[in-house]
Amino acid sequence: MRKKGKLFVISGPSGVGKDTIVKEYLKNHNGHLSVSATTRLPRKNEVDGKDYYFLTTNEFKNWIDDGNFLEYAIYNDNYYGTPKSKIDEYLQKGINVFLIIEVQGGLQIKNKIKNSVLIFILPPSLDELKQRLLDRNLDSIGIVENRLKIAEEEIKVSEKYDYLIVNRDVNNSVDKLDMIINEECK
Ligand code: 5GP
Repeated sequence: MRKKGKLFVISGPSGVGKDTIVKEYLKNHNGHLSVSATTRLPRKNEVDGKDYYFLTTNEFKNWIDDGNFLEYAIYNDNYYGTPKSKIDEYLQKGINVFLIIEVQGGLQIKNKIKNSVLIFILPPSLDELKQRLLDRNLDSIGIVENRLKIAEEEIKVSEKYDYLIVNRDVNNSVDKLDMIINEECK
């Protein structure tokens, strides 16, 4: 019988580099990156159906009512959720699935799917995180300040995660992720 894939949840404060780490890892390894739904507005260059499914609040609530989400949460006044469809299909085929989601959603996944693996990416320091958020120039200073406050709360929850990676250097973090996945999929 074919071995089932595993669900890997990757969380960490906004701007910590979690998307970069997972996408770099997936350039050289098999795996499926889940596309989330959100009610936040698309940023410049974001594509509907690729970066997110961009929904109105009413549409999102209808998806909730229809039982379409594996988990969902409100973050920074917007809804974010993981669509259920396809995930089980990949796992059954032996393909690992990656969810890049915030901590409330991560803990929901841990409760529902006992063999899921939760990995938290930490910044070297909060000062460095602030600088990265400002450098990427995606959000106004007000939003950046808000994201930093959320980051402090998220870091407290990280103790409930299975693994922590401090992202000092992307290549090094990708290697650590690779080691964790190898260990978990032995
Ligand atoms: P952003 O607005 O920067 O794209 O994402 C904000 C936060 O929402 C990030 O921490 C991101 O990982 C998280 N997020 C993205 N998709 C989901 C999801 O499907 N569920 C949950 N719970 N969080 C998500």
